[in-house]
Amino acid sequence: MNKSIPVTSACDKPQTQTPWLNVDEAITRMTGAVKKTSETKVVAIRDALNCVLAKEVISTINVPPYANSAMDGYAFNSVDLPTSGEKTLTLVGKSFAGIPFDGEVKPGECIRIMTGAQMANGTDTVIMQEQVEVNDSAITIQSGHCKNENVRHIGEDIKNGDVVLKVGQLISPAELGVLASLGIAEVTIYKPLRVAFFSTGDELRNVDEELEEGQIYDSNRYTIFGMLKNLGVELIDMGILPDDRQTIEDAFKQASTQADAIITSGGVSVGEADYVKETLDKLGKVDFWKIAMKPGKPLAFGFIDNAVFFGLPGNPVSVMATFYQFALPTLKTMMGLKATKATVVKVPCKTDLRKAPGRTDFQRGILQTNEQGELVVESIGMQASHVLSGMSKANCFIILPQDWGNVEAGTLVDVQPFRGLM
Ligand code: AMP
Ligand code: MG
Repeated sequence: MNKSIPVTSACDKPQTQTPWLNVDEAITRMTGAVKKTSETKVVAIRDALNCVLAKEVISTINVPPYANSAMDGYAFNSVDLPTSGEKTLTLVGKSFAGIPFDGEVKPGECIRIMTGAQMANGTDTVIMQEQVEVNDSAITIQSGHCKNENVRHIGEDIKNGDVVLKVGQLISPAELGVLASLGIAEVTIYKPLRVAFFSTGDELRNVDEELEEGQIYDSNRYTIFGMLKNLGVELIDMGILPDDRQTIEDAFKQASTQADAIITSGGVSVGEADYVKETLDKLGKVDFWKIAMKPGKPLAFGFIDNAVFFGLPGNPVSVMATFYQFALPTLKTMMGLKATKATVVKVPCKTDLRKAPGRTDFQRGILQTNEQGELVVESIGMQASHVLSGMSKANCFIILPQDWGNVEAGTLVDVQPFRGLM
């Protein structure tokens, strides 16, 4: 056992016979319970960045629109390629990008051509300038070249009539460029979701307030803000709510009229002053689950009117872990994204890991390349669910299956990079 991993408490006892819901089942239930948004709008392509395409894009042109040269060199007909020795061709003109040669190139002739310039009638092959000998108005080429060398063919990237982008495609910088290359100025996207979020707890204070005895700063509303912002949704920050029945009820009512989804943190475990559960039972159709995961366990999910509700646990690391594993794929489904699964890679773990069988662990790790250039992961050390600084030190979750116990260094483990989550 690696001595650097602190032994925290006795709560690592095996929990094999739990009645809890497993992680995959919870993801399936949540993503299966929601519908994708139906509201769409037409926007200029730059405004579609990080949005989801709601109408497929069909090309009405070929890309490239004409055969052109991939090199600076000389274009001619391949009938002039020598099979042995060399051949001299007469230079009869030039084709530059945007200024094509408008005559016909006959056998025995060639033109000067630049990268991206249109191939002239009668030419089908380009030899790069470094490979020819130039003498005034003629060039000499050697054997060893082939027909169509250095030519980019019409439509070889995209053909007229091709479906270029499908419904559900995330518009990233590459898609913006592809749309521009087709001369498409506007696209139809799904309207961004509106997501309301708030924190609950009498102990919570805002960042601009002084802490008194027994109080802590509200950090969850900031991690949730960041994760939602990266997802590209519209944010409705409803602040901190005290543990008070009426205030919580009013907030839920208000949120459900304004938002497509509501996210809260805290108040879903069974505690005396937690009124979230009572209010949800009264206002909505919400299930309270114990999920077989660590960190995370308590989680509420359901509907208040038409708004989807996620009641995340209170502990700061649990909030991030449950947001990434459950809220993220569910919100992505609602956004109409076709790709909702996070990237997972298998890599050897450099350190021993402590784990009790019974729950899926999402331990915080650091994924990096070792001196041999291979990807390896190691634990950040202390894995408690209140240690938020560990999320900042880490760059990935190390996912350890429900039935696993302690892990020895060298074992191949599943790793989910934080960067691959959004
Ligand atoms: P709860 O589920 O409300 O009992 O909260 C569980 C733990 O998470 C407690 O230690 C809370 O103080 C803490 N917690 C709840 N909400 C927040 C928050 N917004 N920011 C930081 N810690 C929180
Ligand atoms: Mg609380």
